Amino acid sequence: MAPRFFVGGNWKMNGTLSSGKELISTLTGAKLDPNTEVVIAPPALHLLGAQQALQGSKIALAGQNAYHKASGAFTGEISVSQLQDASIPWVILGHSERRTLFHESDADVAEKTAAALSSNLSVILCVGETLEQREANESINVVVRQLDAVLSKVPQDWSKIVVAYEPVWAIGTGKVATPEQAEEVHAAIYKWAGEKLPKGQAEDLRVIYGGSVAAKNCKELANKPSIHGFLVGGASLKPEFVDIVNAKL
Ligand code: PGA
Repeated sequence: MAPRFFVGGNWKMNGTLSSGKELISTLTGAKLDPNTEVVIAPPALHLLGAQQALQGSKIALAGQNAYHKASGAFTGEISVSQLQDASIPWVILGHSERRTLFHESDADVAEKTAAALSSNLSVILCVGETLEQREANESINVVVRQLDAVLSKVPQDWSKIVVAYEPVWAIGTGKVATPEQAEEVHAAIYKWAGEKLPKGQAEDLRVIYGGSVAAKNCKELANKPSIHGFLVGGASLKPEFVDIVNAKL
């Protein structure tokens, strides 16, 4: 059986309390494909309000980042265990904005992923190459390097990880990867998973695509056999997010 389609909405550092509430009421009032798992990631400050607004809904919440230490003198951070304590079930880790703007290394992302899993969180693990790396024909090597780093800290169980392939050149640029470009890297990720993950796990792994996904391009991407969902930035702040959730209908 194909793994369940997954659509994440990464709100990034956008919105106010009231715009977030409005967006949530658009989502809870819409008819969403019951076969698609939906997770939204509001700014940390807005998570608890969103949790209240989502009561009774199947939409789950994610933190946009978290620190691997449980507590301590780490001004400005929130920990994976604090997300767990607040019943936030998901966290996005390794987003390219964290990697580039905030200098998170492959090793940092690996450590955070291991910590999140041991706090029983599910992880949207982002990987992807820059334009320079794509032009140097390095896309697959980069993604494999990023995945290998996580595997070294998480050798056993990837059942709570969704891998988001997000080519950096496609994020927020309006320049979506073609379905063929996405397919090629997704296939390489599945090949990697088949070779490196414990037996049986590659089949269940969800690899989703992110980077300028919009209502107008989501159906074609969703029809590709190795694309099992999306991580959506800009369009997750708009009512068209509903159409993206319903891409398989
Ligand atoms: P975008 O962002 O949809 O605005 O390109 C995707 C992401 O950063 O997750």
